[in-house]
This record gives sequence, C-alpha cells and structure tokens, in this order.
Amino acid sequence: MKAIVYRSTGSWYNIKTETGRAMSARIKGVFKIDDITSTNPIAVGDEVIIEVESESANTAMITEILPRHNYINRQSPAHKKHHHIVAANLDQSLLFATLREPKTSQGFIDRFLVTCEAYHVPAIVVFNKADLYRNKEQEKYAELKEMYAAIGYRTILMSVKTNEGVQEVKDALEGKTTLLSGHSGVGKSSFINTIFPELQLKTQDVSGWSGKGLHTTTFAEMFDLPLSTGGRVIDTPGMREFGLVDITRQELSHYYPEMARLITACQFNNCLHINEPGCAVKEAVANGIIHEDRYVSYYNILESIDERNY
Ligand code: GDP
Ligand code: ZN
Repeated sequence: MKAIVYRSTGSWYNIKTETGRAMSARIKGVFKIDDITSTNPIAVGDEVIIEVESESANTAMITEILPRHNYINRQSPAHKKHHHIVAANLDQSLLFATLREPKTSQGFIDRFLVTCEAYHVPAIVVFNKADLYRNKEQEKYAELKEMYAAIGYRTILMSVKTNEGVQEVKDALEGKTTLLSGHSGVGKSSFINTIFPELQLKTQDVSGWSGKGLHTTTFAEMFDLPLSTGGRVIDTPGMREFGLVDITRQELSHYYPEMARLITACQFNNCLHINEPGCAVKEAVANGIIHEDRYVSYYNILESIDERNY
C-alpha cells in the first residue's frame, strides 16, 4: 500500500496511507537512495510502500521509498559526512521575509533562492508585516519586487495583522505541497495559526543541531491544509538555512537564472565572473542588465563557498 510521510522522529515515521489512515511506521535495516546511504533516509514528503505490521497497534513497516521528484538537503554540522534530507517531493517553497522587525537581508533571500534553484523547487518570497513599512520600506519592497520579477521570482506583500495579501498567499498554497521557511520572528507561525488555526503549528523554535538532543529533534513536519483543492505545508522548525552543501563555486552562477543564461558567452568556460577578461556576466552588471545587488549576493556566496574549501 502507498503512503506519504508526514513526520520523522528518528526511527519512527508518522505516515498517512492513500486511504487516509494515519499510522506509525518504521524501516528495517539500512536504505540506500540517490547514492546516499543512511540509517534515517526517509524525509517528510516521501512516498513509500508499506505493509501493515500490527492492526491493533496501528503500525506499519516501510518496505520501499518511491523515487523523489526533488528534495531539499541540508548538511548537519555535527555529522559532516552525512546528508540530511529535509523534505521531498515539493511543489514549491515559500520564504517568509520582512523588511522590518526583523529585517531579512537580501543575502539571506538569495541564498534561499540559490538552494531552491539547485534542488529544482520553485520559490515564492512573502514579505510580511507590511503594516509596519514606512515610505522607506515601501519603496524598498517595490524595488525588490521589480528586481525579482525580472528574474522570474514571485513576491507577495502581506500583513498577517491587517490581512493584506493573505488571500494571495492562501491561493498560492491551493493544491500544492509547500515548504515553509524563514527566520524566526518573521510571522510564519502567526500566519499559519491565524489562517489555519486547526493546524496548531509549533511556535517555538527548536534548535536541533546543538549536538545535544540530535536524535529527538523533529526537523520537519507536514500538515494537510483545509483548502478547497487541498494542499499541504511542510514546516521546518529551527532550520534557518538550507545547506549549499552540494554547490561548488563553479556551479553557483547556474543558480542565478539571470546569470545562467549568459555564462556560455563568457570568454572562459570556467569563468567565476569575478575579474576574468571577456566576462559576459560582469558586462551585464555594468550595463544594468543584471542587478548590482544580485551580483553582490553572488559574490558573497562565492566567498563563503571558498572558505569551506570547495
Ligand atoms: P515566526 O517565528 O516566524 O513563527 O514568527 P511569529 O509568528 O512568532 O511572529 C513574531 C512576531 O511578529 C509576533 O510578535 C507576531 O505577533 C508579530 N507579527 C506577525 N505577523 C505580523 C504582521 O503582519 N504585522 C505585525 N506588525 N506583526 C506581526
Ligand atoms: Zn563570466
């Protein structure tokens, strides 16, 4: 029987079968998927094949993991060699950001977008707390909206407090499996708890990678949305940043869509677009075709990859 994984707590998984039955399930032995061997290889959002183990205890055994159409991965600093799959089979990812209290940096947003590109997950950025924006932030939002729209990213201005933009975000969630992300304090749980009070999302941030409690922390949990066409959200408590773990310096510009379409025009095919001669990316920055702020974030991410010896 087919089922979907809603939550992982280490050795047990909360699953829902295709007939809608919620069960606890576990795996036997070690699984190998996508060339990653792990004792905990199953992610929230995974489609699995199960066998009922005990009707009375409502438990099942996972016998197979079906191929993923995508996934988001992060590296555990505590276990450098292990990949940790955060969530699989995502239709999209929604980043909660704010321009005030606390201001989300463009660098953080771009890092998120790069990760989504690398993992083939469409991304939307929601700017919450619109009610707090003064002229300055309103202008900044207009600039960001235009900058991101030109590259193909959708942004939504929202205020959970005044309800502005909330319907637009709700509509974006209809019928899709959406990973929710964002720094704590941006209003992610306020949004869910106000719009979908039946979900009872945890508001408390859990920092899972302190080294202690590594095996008890819940990294991600999926919820069914009470929408007319259905839909699910995956919440990732305590996760501030996705790993850029698999991304090399050479690849990075592939995940900036506005650069990716130009890089074949660079004189050198290993161009990092820093100060190489005949660089089509630098030329586009100079001509205003690539936004300077995006180039700055590209450069900063490139530097951070360098520090980690890629
Ligand atoms: P989370 O950490 O992202 O889940 O953030 P919370 O939902 O806990 O919200 C953090 C704080 O921001 C709380 O005090 C909320 O009341 C407040 N907040 C959330 N949304 C809005 C909003 O649209 N406008 C204003 N002014 N405050 C908000
Ligand atoms: Zn170049």
